[in-house]
Amino acid sequence: MKALIIGAGGVGTVVTQKIAANPVFTEVMLASRTKSKCDAIAATIGGGRVQTAQVDADSVPELSNLFRAFKPDIVVNVALPYQDLTIMDACLECGVNYLDTANYEPKDEAHFEYSWQWAYQDRFKAKGLTAILGCGFDPGVTAIFTAYAAKHHFDEIHYLDIVDCNAGNHGMAFATNFNPEINIREVTQKGRYYENGKWVVTEPHEIHKGLHYPEIGERESYVIYHEELESLVKNYPTIKRARFWMTFGQEYLTHLRVIQNIGMARIDPIIYNGVEIVPIQFLKAVLPDPKSLGANYHGKTSIGCRIKGIKDGKERTYYIYNNCDHEQAFKETGTQAVSFTTGVPAALGASMWAKGLWRGAGVFNVEEFDPDPFLAELGPQGLPWHELFDVDLEV
Ligand code: NDP
Repeated sequence: MKALIIGAGGVGTVVTQKIAANPVFTEVMLASRTKSKCDAIAATIGGGRVQTAQVDADSVPELSNLFRAFKPDIVVNVALPYQDLTIMDACLECGVNYLDTANYEPKDEAHFEYSWQWAYQDRFKAKGLTAILGCGFDPGVTAIFTAYAAKHHFDEIHYLDIVDCNAGNHGMAFATNFNPEINIREVTQKGRYYENGKWVVTEPHEIHKGLHYPEIGERESYVIYHEELESLVKNYPTIKRARFWMTFGQEYLTHLRVIQNIGMARIDPIIYNGVEIVPIQFLKAVLPDPKSLGANYHGKTSIGCRIKGIKDGKERTYYIYNNCDHEQAFKETGTQAVSFTTGVPAALGASMWAKGLWRGAGVFNVEEFDPDPFLAELGPQGLPWHELFDVDLEV
């Protein structure tokens, strides 16, 4: 099987290392906008195992030329969400299977929904190709955890709270853990959660409370919108309420408020010295590169699902989670835990497809596949997970 990875950022670094180490992939290529970044990642792996190429993933003709030359069986898209549709178009044109970790977003609107990618369902089906959407940690493992809970522990899931805590400290006054532009667009939008068949919209960070995370302790956690909620409430219609909580420190929120108040989070172009610039893209250029945070990052992330529902007529609670240590992630891959927790599942999802364990013609969210073979390998790949039964979920 031949795998083509697109995007040579923090996540791409981990995906390339994991795919290169997996013998199911006979040939591996890493392509991105800046070829030198691909070459640097390939050099750390060595042995000529990873080929590299330059590609502008906004251009379907450029992508198609590359696909025709390398002939990948599957493309792992870890560039930016803006490129999802062009890469899917090129996959359809050249008969290639597809996997990503973040849903499509138009550049001029911070709007998160699957409609654009779900609209490819008939075309992928007609070509007999598989498109796997949202196979990072969240979205990704969080939806696979939910599928595992539904398969093994619940007859009906009623309440789902996905909790994402980063208790790590990188020593910088302000930095984002993945692409700053995508991250700031995500966390500054209005909150949104699902309740009794409807979406409830809140002001940004309006709902918050202290939640306790295993081996970490209490952290203030905020309800924000996150894309896996959309597919999970569709695929598990017994869900009465679904929310997503993320922890933020006061210092981070203060910086975020200032960034917004002074207009640096704007995504519309402005003219500066006769040149058109987008403030948030300029901000990205001056903020620390998330990839560079790893060397001094201490502490852990803890991401999981807190679920309440019915099993054999009785109410039960269930908490499934992974803790990932920034230092350990850096030791293994040279990146911090957020890149690691995203890259490992993306590479594993591609492996599930390559081994024929996750297949189908059409567009799929990860919870539609069998969670068992994926979760059996997730621990050995570096992300062990744990279960707690009948505990206080706090939510
Ligand atoms: P980075 O910004 O570090 O890396 C993105 C890479 O994509 C860069 O190498 C960049 O090139 C390349 N790229 C951008 N535009 C193009 C283009 N037009 N053509 C070709 N290459 C391009 O981001 P991260 O690694 O932090 O994140 C990667 C993806 O992972 C994002 O989509 C993010 O949303 C997703 N993510 C998902 C998570 C999950 O749990 N599901 C969590 C965290 C991230 P260049 O180097 O030239 O800038």
